[in-house]
Amino acid sequence: MNGYKTKKIRVGRLFIGGDAPLAVQTMWKLPLSATVLDDCITELMTLEKMGCSLVRFSVPDMESAEFLGRLAERVSMPLVADIHFDWRIAVRVMDFPVSKVRINPGNIGSRDKVANVVKKALDKGIAIRVGVNTGSLPRNIRDMDRAEALVTAAEEELSILESLNFKDVIFSLKASDIETTVKANRIFASRHQYPLHLGLTEAGPLIPGTVKSTAALLPLLRDGIGDTIRVSLSDDCRKEVLVGMEIARASGRLNMGVNIVSCPRCSRYSFDVMSFLKKAQDYLQTVNKPLTVAIMGCVVNGPGEAAHADIAISGVGKTIYIYKQGKKVQEVAEDEAFEAFINHIESLI
Ligand code: SF4
Repeated sequence: MNGYKTKKIRVGRLFIGGDAPLAVQTMWKLPLSATVLDDCITELMTLEKMGCSLVRFSVPDMESAEFLGRLAERVSMPLVADIHFDWRIAVRVMDFPVSKVRINPGNIGSRDKVANVVKKALDKGIAIRVGVNTGSLPRNIRDMDRAEALVTAAEEELSILESLNFKDVIFSLKASDIETTVKANRIFASRHQYPLHLGLTEAGPLIPGTVKSTAALLPLLRDGIGDTIRVSLSDDCRKEVLVGMEIARASGRLNMGVNIVSCPRCSRYSFDVMSFLKKAQDYLQTVNKPLTVAIMGCVVNGPGEAAHADIAISGVGKTIYIYKQGKKVQEVAEDEAFEAFINHIESLI
């Protein structure tokens, strides 16, 4: 990793930047209302088990600010209020225990409006993310090179925040294309020590969004750029966290959760890896310990992968073999394999 050392910023019970672990986050997809708060709390608990460190909510009006506030009073997970256009909503939402407010320089308005947000954030000890997107750049810089424009918009907002003596700030510079996102973040990281929230905005549906986000984020993370990531998918929050965690692990910046090794299956298979994974995957995603699990279809690579896995499973005919840290520990019938496999994982966590 290169030496992009950033400031460490408190975001609720979490730290972002400096020597803090890379944080994976997501964004809630639906409006909040009184009837959905309980379901939302349950889902936040699942997201947290999957490795999600914070969740952002759009706050388009005062009513949304009240609902987010009620939610923030009931959960310990850091919640982020995402504000566009109206600084008064940002000020109101900070009456509640939200952990961070995101503002967009392209639409939050004049220095005075930002100053009102900053004053309240200082009073409450709440961090601010300045989130710049190519889709909503300030008008005066829209003709610039897009990466340079992202950096310019972020730096203009930074100069306002620094003039107000506000330092607890995280930046994001996002485009929907890989090159612009990578270039803008490299420039910003080379000039400033504020933590960076990385993401490719509007990355697309699950598969293209995953590929494009990985292509953009992985080289940055491997170079030590980026302190928190969000994968923007036209899919649910769990998928965003799942992909974010895979990218975080692949970058070598996070050692948490289960690394699944599984065979793609071919006509040689005697153990149906795909059906087994369909049953096991939801559970494995919530195991919050660094484990490697190998799920293999036959004896060709099964024992070899088992040697490097904490728990491995493979089969010959109707007999299923379970390996623990390279040693065969159990033979079971196919219909008993799932329960036995889960029991062995539970013994390690
Ligand atoms: S492990 Fe066996 S079943 Fe799976 S792809 Fe390899 S040869 Fe085929």
